[in-house]
Amino acid sequence: MTDCLFCKIAAGEIPSKKVYSDDKVYAFHDIAPKAPTHVLIIPRKHIGKLADVGEGDAAGIGEVVTRAAAIARELGLEHYRLVANNGEGAGQSVFHLHFHLLGGRPLAWPPG
Ligand code: AMP
Repeated sequence: MTDCLFCKIAAGEIPSKKVYSDDKVYAFHDIAPKAPTHVLIIPRKHIGKLADVGEGDAAGIGEVVTRAAAIARELGLEHYRLVANNGEGAGQSVFHLHFHLLGGRPLAWPPG
């Protein structure tokens, strides 16, 4: 999508602190971290939000989640949270599907 912040980040048009990149998945450090480790993992394919995921996306989303677990391992995280905010009411502010990988401090449950 032409006017999408995370599409532009994945394409390298806007700078980011890259954690991982392949032809399907891009991961980078959040610009305003909410935990000592706060990585965003996104599909390169533009999907606005989790609710827009369709049957045809199953493999792609599986790759994103699998990569999130691999990144957590590589960063030495044992206890962490992987979360996708769906819609403004749930805190979503960037409308390109992304998973937050949060760790490095105790994480309260349930979240606020
Ligand atoms: P959400 O509120 O769930 O949509 O998450 C969007 C996340 O993107 C927030 O945690 C922001 O801090 C983060 N963010 C916004 N702009 C950038 C950027 N240019 N580079 C890295 N992270 C960003």
